Amino acid sequence: MPEPGPVGNMPSGESLAARDRGLLWHPYAALDGPAPYTVEAAEGVTLTLVSPEGERIEAIDGMASWWCAVHGYRNPELDRAVVDQVTEFSHVMFGGLTHRPAVELAELLVEVTPPELQHVFFADSGSVSVEVALKLAVQYQAARGRPERRRILTVRGGYHGDTTGAMSVCDPEGGMHAEFSGLVAEQLFVAPPPAATTPDGTVWHADEGSVTQWIEDVRATARKHRGELAGIIVEPVLQGAGGMRTYHPTCLRALRDLADELDLVFIVDEIATGFGRTGKWFASEWADVVPDVMCVGKALTGGYMTLAAVLVSAVVGEVITASEQRALMHGPTFMGNPLACAVALQSVRMLRETWSEDVARLSAALSEILPVAAELSVVKDVRVIGGVGVVEFHEAPDPAALTRTALEQGVWFRPFGTLLYTMPPYVCTDEEVRTISYALLRAAQHVELQAGS
Ligand SMILES: *Cc1c(COP(=O)(O)O)cnc(C)c1O
Repeated sequence: MPEPGPVGNMPSGESLAARDRGLLWHPYAALDGPAPYTVEAAEGVTLTLVSPEGERIEAIDGMASWWCAVHGYRNPELDRAVVDQVTEFSHVMFGGLTHRPAVELAELLVEVTPPELQHVFFADSGSVSVEVALKLAVQYQAARGRPERRRILTVRGGYHGDTTGAMSVCDPEGGMHAEFSGLVAEQLFVAPPPAATTPDGTVWHADEGSVTQWIEDVRATARKHRGELAGIIVEPVLQGAGGMRTYHPTCLRALRDLADELDLVFIVDEIATGFGRTGKWFASEWADVVPDVMCVGKALTGGYMTLAAVLVSAVVGEVITASEQRALMHGPTFMGNPLACAVALQSVRMLRETWSEDVARLSAALSEILPVAAELSVVKDVRVIGGVGVVEFHEAPDPAALTRTALEQGVWFRPFGTLLYTMPPYVCTDEEVRTISYALLRAAQHVELQAGS
């Protein structure tokens, strides 16, 4: 019998957080940045965390692991989908080979998206799916005899991923383009669409004059550069990691029309917004637009594995197939990974049945409780769309203090700059969404107290 004691070569006494520090980089954090919380377990919507000080904390995941864990953790059906596939085979190359999970998932994605979208390219992350979409736009133009059209039009304030191509269409300031000049392509940016809100989840409010003016300006810019443009990419209606801003569906509609007018490939990045998060199955539905290309990811696998998909219209697919290369020039090693496809298949099947009721429940609690924060002087704006709740401060509060205050209320948040926001797992009960909402409110009140003292 082995002696009970430290596992493997773990130096006894030193916590994982201590061993992590200086060894591992975390997203946009310094090697010697704040020590992370350690996840001991995750089940349902609850994370069991150990604080850097060694204290055990049970917290509801208010972030759904960055939009992904919509079904919560250890979901029995998703667990089973993975295990069943593991016992068949975990991975095979996709070059020249195919398998049931990939075919069935692609069929399902085509079925649950607008009928115009008929073809699927599997990518290994959201960023990679954006790379593929951008390359596709350039290939499309070349195939149409316009190889000089290679630039992408997008709006400021967007976020499309961290790889260099994706970075080129992220907000130039937030995306730190200057730091990577020479590496990152210079795309054509227009102003972000004017902010708009939909307090009741049906009618949108925006300053009509600004919307009209924005549309005119974008049209003028695009027409001026028509000879160099290949496509347009935007996050529909909700700009996520670039600032959690909502904008009027009319602006999305105008971009679709512009793409038609100038024969540009219209790409919507539904990686964050897809599968119901904004209160529509896909956020493009707010504007009744059908894109030529749609990127989905994040909630696709319910957060079990990394996978994204690029859905392409029959029309664009035909042009690519008739081109000189005939293929979409991409092919990652882990393309169509069977484990990821198997779990995504189950995730999308479940989402389809449950999203509408779930997101309505999240939305109701968030819109009832969060607006109270608007009364605080440190708060600039509060907005809710579907299952997303955002409190924006005038000035960026101390993120560690915010996280800590929320954890005392039993909720995990990851504040970002001036934003404290939540996109709860869809499976949260009404009571759990309320706990999340009140924790967010308390954290905001704490900022107010700190500011006053
Ligand atoms: C998260 C995100 C991406 C990038 O996806 P990764 O899987 O992190 O590469 C792209 N676009 C949007 C809108 C996102 O929210």
